[in-house]
This record gives sequence, structure tokens and C-alpha cells, in this order.
Amino acid sequence: MPVPDSTREHGPTGQQTSGRRYLLERVGEAAVVQLYADGFDRLSLTNKVLCWHLYQAAIAGRDIYYDQRYAHNLAMRGVLEAIVGHPAGIPPEILDAVTRYTKLFWINTGPFNNLTARKFVPAFTPDALAQAVGIAAANGAPLPLRPGETIEQLLARLHRPFFDRDFEPVVTNKTPGAGRDILDASVNNLYDEVTMADVEGFVERYPLNSRLVGRGETLVEEVYRVGGRYSAQIARIVEHLEAAVPYAGPATATALEALIRFYRTGETSDRRAYDIAWLADTESDVDTINGFIEVYMDPRGVKGAWEALVYYVHPEKTAAVQTIARHAQWFEDRMPWDPRWRKPTVTGVTARAIEVVVECGDSGPVTPVGINLPNDQEIRETYGSKSVSLSNVSEAYEKSTPVEFRREFSWSHDEVERAERWGAFAAELTTNLHEIVGHGSGLVAEGLNGAPEKALKEHFSAIEEARADLVALYFVADPYLVEIGVVPDGALDEIVTAEYEAYARNALVQLRRIREGAQIEEDHMRNRQLIVHWLLAHTEAISIARRDGKTYYRMTDRQAFRAGVGRLLAEVQRIKAEGDYAAAHELLETYGVHFDPDLRDEVVRRVDHLDLPSYTGFVMPRLEPVADGSGAIVDVRISYPQDLTAQMLEYSAF
Ligand SMILES: [Zn+2]
Repeated sequence: MPVPDSTREHGPTGQQTSGRRYLLERVGEAAVVQLYADGFDRLSLTNKVLCWHLYQAAIAGRDIYYDQRYAHNLAMRGVLEAIVGHPAGIPPEILDAVTRYTKLFWINTGPFNNLTARKFVPAFTPDALAQAVGIAAANGAPLPLRPGETIEQLLARLHRPFFDRDFEPVVTNKTPGAGRDILDASVNNLYDEVTMADVEGFVERYPLNSRLVGRGETLVEEVYRVGGRYSAQIARIVEHLEAAVPYAGPATATALEALIRFYRTGETSDRRAYDIAWLADTESDVDTINGFIEVYMDPRGVKGAWEALVYYVHPEKTAAVQTIARHAQWFEDRMPWDPRWRKPTVTGVTARAIEVVVECGDSGPVTPVGINLPNDQEIRETYGSKSVSLSNVSEAYEKSTPVEFRREFSWSHDEVERAERWGAFAAELTTNLHEIVGHGSGLVAEGLNGAPEKALKEHFSAIEEARADLVALYFVADPYLVEIGVVPDGALDEIVTAEYEAYARNALVQLRRIREGAQIEEDHMRNRQLIVHWLLAHTEAISIARRDGKTYYRMTDRQAFRAGVGRLLAEVQRIKAEGDYAAAHELLETYGVHFDPDLRDEVVRRVDHLDLPSYTGFVMPRLEPVADGSGAIVDVRISYPQDLTAQMLEYSAF
């Protein structure tokens, strides 16, 4: 499970002190930021070559996620890239509008905003698109034409996906309203002609890695594997993974071989074997995540969205997160919930701070700052989990965030100062607690067979994220952190205050991301809304204040905040442990899903006035092998393109 830090506000500086360019440009609500990976040059040649092959395996699967997200995505992208890649002679105002839309399309992997799940439409007309496509075609651009199809027919086929906001409007809709089906209301490509009623009683053999298709009376599973759906892309991934194996140490090689086997067979038992082998690989400097991982895009919370990351360990920062991991049992023994849901023995929580080399699919260009895997609850309980915090991503966020951001929503000068002094530190600490202690913690009832997601259905992800956030908020205030040397002596109170203030503010500030409707879809946003609004209703920890026509969420009582967090955590853990769907539904409906649109309008006005971005898309580092006369790789160079368009066109042509 990821912590998408893009749904939180960020660290202290807007100054680009190092002389590097972090913030490259603004496109509508999005910031485009360059990611740097400084330690790469210090890796051994073997590790660099390993990274190079894994990097290619990551890019090779990128189109899988495009297709999973929307059936029209690849054709739409083909049209846009034809224009952007062959622009000679296109009127500048048309080219400019198409380029801006295309950048948002790339950042969001299609026409749906990654946070609101809703469709966004171009600022250019269908006629302008037709004109641009005509010129690009004359310039020699290839187009995603079906056999025998004309350009006019292609554009007619894509007219509504591009331009009609009400046609297939929401990629994932977990709460479509009374009487509406969540699969029917979600336009992603994980299901075709399937409703929840069809799925009831149908046993999926490949729950994580298949697309379900309704064929008359029956359901068919199209399995993602070599020879199955996405065979071409998966075969290329496998080819690059095979090339990587000789450069990997024994534990990584075993994991990569298990992954290759899973990609070939698609069998759940092979996926389990891969998860276990990946977990056992705890010492290597270079690692990868590559597969069908997170289930947020599926309203049922079952189907995995494809993603890939390649990364290496950041040794200094890893020492701090490993300290937390070493004490995982201490935290588990003190979880503020019914003792029967505490793990008697916490196994195998390994935690590392990493530098990302590349992220594709579900994790890029919009990236999380922390990841804890595997998601399979049964494997987590038996074998533990691996947790990574993405150091260079956090750093790039910090370096690219304007300072006005925090000032606008802080009640007092003290609050601003605290945030500037401790905000980044507190955010990183709670992210680590969320991933290492939070997701790794707790037991569930035997009767759930290690699969609480089946009982909690569309609410599982938000409940699980709330649980991990609550664990982090609860223990961030524990003096034990000072004792083990994770928090500097004498600074705990201020750090806790800064974190609680930021958490309360965020429930207000995050509303800027949902410019339409009065409902939150994204699970992490739901959980953050849930926690703050529950605290508002049940404790004295937060008060709502107004000044000069502006609303503020003020954290006013640190002790009450922590006590409230403990109470809510006990209930959220109970809901997960018992698979109490009704209670999950009630909690989220009451506190997590709905918001006041007038308040959102106010927040949007304030944010727009300051011209602050709502989310960030990252330009990844670029790798390039250097070969000698015999073709052997003698070095791998890393560079920073600072150009989203160049990188996206390069990936599409990869
Ligand atoms: Zn999480």
C-alpha cells in the first residue's frame, strides 16, 4: 500500500537553493517536477547494469496501465502524441492547447484526474483536433488506426471519450448513489459488461491479475500473462527481467526468477511464491517492484493495477527507518485496541529509505512517498512486509512547494514557524510509522481467512489507510521515539504539535483537489477526511475558526487529539479484524466521503489566488548504457531530462 504524499501538503521550502531546477513548469492544476537520484553514480557497475535492465522492464509494461485505466487510452494517447511529436505547420494556438492537454493526459495516465477520478476535457475544439491530426499525418506521424479505418472515423470513435464530460465520466466510482452498481458506474477497463450481481457467487481463479468480461450468461477471466491479455508487453518485461538476473545477487535473482514464472503462468500460487521470494530479499542495494500491485482503481478492491519501480538504498536515511522497524514489536504490544488483535510475534518488517530511479504505470508520473508490500494479508501475517520510503521523491516535493501554501491555511504565526521548522521532519516520521508500524500491524479474525478486503469490499482501502494513519498519529506522540533516538531530545512536543496541526489543516486544504461535486473518491483523501471530521465531532482537539471570511481548522489540544486518535483506532481495527462492513460504511459515509461544496469553493478561491498546484507529476531520471567496442556495458549514465514531453515520447517509443 502506498502513501501518496501528493495528497498531503509538503515540507518547508519553495527556495530552489541547490541551484537545481525542481519545479519545471505548471500545467493547469499540476506541477511538473524533476526527480533526482544522486547516489546512482556511487553504485557498483554490476548494480548499475542491473538497474538498467530493470529500468527497461519498468518502461516495457507502461502501456498495460494505460489500457487498464481506460479502454480508449492508448488510441487517445496515439492521436495526441502524433500531434505533439510531429508539430511542423500546426497553428501555434492549437499546438499549445493540445500540448497542455497532452501533458495533463500523461501525468494522469488518461483523461481522468488521478485524485478526483473524474474526466477532464480539452480546451481545444474537435475541429482544431482534426486540423492538427491532419497536419501531423501529412508530416508522417503514425496514427492508431484500426484496419481500414480513416482519420475521420478514428476521430469520430474518440470524439466522446475526448470531448464529452458526461460520457464515461468517472474512472472509479465506489459510491455512485443508491441503486447504482459500482462496476457499472466505473469506466475503467478492469471489467467489461460486468456488474456486482454477476460477480456474486463467481469464484475468480486469478483475482488480482485478470480482466473480467461478461459473455452472455457467463463470466470470462482474461488472465494477464504471457500468452494471455497483455502478452506482448509482459513478454518484453520478462525478456528484460531475464537480462537482469545475471547481474543480481542470489536473493534478488531468486525473486526475479519467481516473478518471471508468475508472468508466464499467471497462477496465484506463483504470485504467492514471488511475494515470499521478494520479501526474503532484504539486503540487496538494488530492488524493484514490478507487477499488478495496488487495488485502488478497482471499486471492488480486487484487481491489481500494473506498476513498476526501480530503486536503490539510501544508506544514511535507512538507519533511521530500520530503528523503527527493529522496535515493531514494542509498538505492536501497545496498540490501543483489543489485545486479541495484537500480533504476539511481529515478523519480518524490513524498512529502508530509497532513491527511485524510475516509476511507471500506477506509480508514475504521480508517485507515492512510501510503499509497504505485499498487500496479501495472509502473507503479511506469516512472512511480514517490506517497507520503503522514497527519499528523493520527498525531497523533490519539498524543494518544489511554495511557502505561501502553508501560510494561507495556518491560523497563527507560531503555527507557520513550527511547520517550517518541523513540518518536513514530522511528515517523514509519520510516513515511516504509517508504512512500517501501521500497515504491518494487527491481526484479523480467523473466519476472514486472511482476507478482510473481501468482507469490507469497496471500503477496505480507505479503512486500511485510516488504520495506518491512526497508528502513525498515535505513536508519533510517544516519548519512546526519543528513547530510541528517532526524535531529538526536547523536540517531541513541538514535532507532535506541528504534525497534528498539519493533519488538521490538510482536511481543509485537500478539498482544493476536488473541484466538482461534493464527494471524495480517493481512498487516502477519504481516510484523512474521516479522521479529522471524526475528531471534530467527538473531541475538543480541533476547532473551526473564521477570520476575514476565511475558514481555518485549528488544532487546539494535543492531548485530546492523541486520545481521540486512540479511540478511533480501536474501532477501525475492530472493523478490519471483524470485517464489519456495515460499520465501515457508516463511518465513511458520516465522516469520510461527503463535504460542504461552499467550503471547497472557498478553499479553491484561496488556492487559485496564490496559484498553488493541486498535484505533481514527476519527470524521472533517464538511464543510458555506455558500451565498449565489443558491445559490453562498461557504464550506465544517469541524466535528468527536465522535459516531460521528451520523456513521455521516449517512453512511448521504447
Ligand atoms: Zn498506506
